[in-house]
Amino acid sequence: MAEQSRAVAGGLAAELYEQIAQIPCINSHSHLVSEAERLAEPLDALSFFNHAYPIADLVAAGMSRDQVDAAFDPAKPLAERWRAFAPYWRWTRLTGYSQCIREGFADLLGFAELSAETVEPLSAAIRAHSRPGLYREILRRRAGIEVSVVNMEDLVEVDREFFLPLPRLNRFSMLRSADQLRDIERDYSAPVGGLRQHVELIGRVCEQWRVAGVAGIKLSQSYHRRMDFRRREFGEANAVFARVLKGEYAGLDSPEGAVLEDYLVFECCRAASEAGLAIQFHQGIRAGNYGGMEGCSPVPLIELLQTFRQARFDLSHAGYPYLREGAVLGKTFANVYLNMSWIHIISPQGARQDLQEWLRMVPYNKIIAFGDDLRHAEAVYGHLKMARWNFAIALAAMMEEGLLSDSTALDVARAAFRDNPAALYGVGG
Ligand SMILES: [Zn+2]
Repeated sequence: MAEQSRAVAGGLAAELYEQIAQIPCINSHSHLVSEAERLAEPLDALSFFNHAYPIADLVAAGMSRDQVDAAFDPAKPLAERWRAFAPYWRWTRLTGYSQCIREGFADLLGFAELSAETVEPLSAAIRAHSRPGLYREILRRRAGIEVSVVNMEDLVEVDREFFLPLPRLNRFSMLRSADQLRDIERDYSAPVGGLRQHVELIGRVCEQWRVAGVAGIKLSQSYHRRMDFRRREFGEANAVFARVLKGEYAGLDSPEGAVLEDYLVFECCRAASEAGLAIQFHQGIRAGNYGGMEGCSPVPLIELLQTFRQARFDLSHAGYPYLREGAVLGKTFANVYLNMSWIHIISPQGARQDLQEWLRMVPYNKIIAFGDDLRHAEAVYGHLKMARWNFAIALAAMMEEGLLSDSTALDVARAAFRDNPAALYGVGG
């Protein structure tokens, strides 16, 4: 597996890794389901690849939609599914998305390889270890995760032993139709007869979520547009909102949709900031295949970042692949945090290289080391191991240059894995 490159990195990196692995991690971005939901799933070795990220690699390698369906249809025998999967596994087994799963299989289940020979016994081992207490064993004891920030639409309660909720304000800021407003009125028992009432409701929702102890709020605009939000006049946005209510609206991706969305994103950030909540933007590549990249660049956010200087902007995925743009913002804006969630598996090597640059460029209280962005605890474990190795190798290289001591290296790791996200999300205080 990755041991060879880790061995090349030398004993110093391995020693640092062992110490970094003792630091509890606050996992800044997760899609883990509750343990009960996980235990109810009939999982086998191939199910771990039935997830948006590995499927994207398989499709990019040439796997057709029919072949994907055949590989992941739980009604079919495993051997038949393996035959659909294996030709594309050959091409995708080295990617970061595959590596995090392989690391979990190797360390937690004792299978170094996924192959025709191991797929059945590995699946049996997965079934055998899927018992109550699984999350305590994997997330807490083996991975050393203190808490995971879980993405969700509206706020729903989570098992606070393992999770902190991060609800989205997407439905309030990305308006598509009058029906959407009716749904908001129903779900929040509040009238939304005009833009002012809608904005007041956003403020109340943020305040309620603060009281409920959320980690922050999430916005996902970069899945459909550039992040070039402009400051808009109330009157201009109000005219569009009135058209939404009358059913005359041209839609979210129209010029008038952009005006209204700009206004609402500003108001969401104002409300979150006033409630003292972190604002996490999905900021980087889109999941899946054939996605546009116009929303990746974080530089267009500047007008918003300049407006809310007291806010805490958490750039989840740090603008990947525009990590240097993100780094300039982290360096020059006190309100911007660079969140490495997902990027240790998008490009394990790229994440490490950028980290080496960031550590000499950005104050290290601005770096959030880890967010799994995954669904299965075993893959979360593997992803976190990769992130810890990236920090160990990057910090060991700086130590070898004589740039820092081992106590400073551990201070960096403790800040990035635990203390910075704790401060950003208000964990433990
Ligand atoms: Zn995510």
